Amino acid sequence: MLFRKPKYATIPLPKKKIETPEGLWIKCDECGELVYKKDWHASQMVCPECNYHARLGVKERLKLIMDEGVEEFNQGIKSVDFLGFVDSKAYSQRLEDAQKKTGFLDAIITVKGNIHGYRVIAGILCFDFMGGSMGSVMGEKIALAVDECIKENLPLVIFCASGGARMQEGTMSLMQMAKTSASIAKLSEAGIPYISVLTHPTTGGVTASFATLADIIIAEPKALICFAGPRVIEQTIGQKLPEGFQRSEFLLEHGLLDMVVPRKEMKATLANVLKMLY
Ligand SMILES: [Zn+2]
Repeated sequence: MLFRKPKYATIPLPKKKIETPEGLWIKCDECGELVYKKDWHASQMVCPECNYHARLGVKERLKLIMDEGVEEFNQGIKSVDFLGFVDSKAYSQRLEDAQKKTGFLDAIITVKGNIHGYRVIAGILCFDFMGGSMGSVMGEKIALAVDECIKENLPLVIFCASGGARMQEGTMSLMQMAKTSASIAKLSEAGIPYISVLTHPTTGGVTASFATLADIIIAEPKALICFAGPRVIEQTIGQKLPEGFQRSEFLLEHGLLDMVVPRKEMKATLANVLKMLY
């Protein structure tokens, strides 16, 4: 058979990859929706699709809640690797890495400043610093913040986000639960109000101590707040847990919390509560 010679040739073209420019979109951890990064930041890291309140950095939190002119105090206290603890990495190395990553010396900063004109002493936990874990520095800084509240007759506000006690400090980290609880009791005896704001996630030894000992306990929507996590409980009791278990809304209904407040209303709500307490 004869074929006419084709007048054109098909050249195999390289496959065209459709790419989204890097860093333009954020994927919501809760619903998986892609959100335009600008919108994500404009909504203070709250998903416009499902109202998931993603973790906020310490600096962003300060900017959102406190008026201008915040002063940090006791910023020079840092942990010592007194056990010479090594897991897959030495604790001293973990500390150094976390300090480099966050710019803080440990997982909490304490500040003096105003919330809509109401002067407070505030503590903000940094989840990016070893999961916001509580070691001897966090315990000490909370105790010192309480002393400062009593000295200056100022209310205490703590923003929590933590994976619990810092295992690299062994029993010493568990002792911080008793230390911070005793401190908060001292604050209560002095008649000074304490407000805690629980953000996603607040767990373990922090939940079981100062986070849930406040006069007013506020949480951000849908935050996981627990001692042992849901997976651990399910495996232990061999039962499925109810929908929304250990999330803010469930805990409000069951009496652990006083309020669930969206991030954009948090500053005004805190100011209202402070106004009543002042
Ligand atoms: Zn979402």
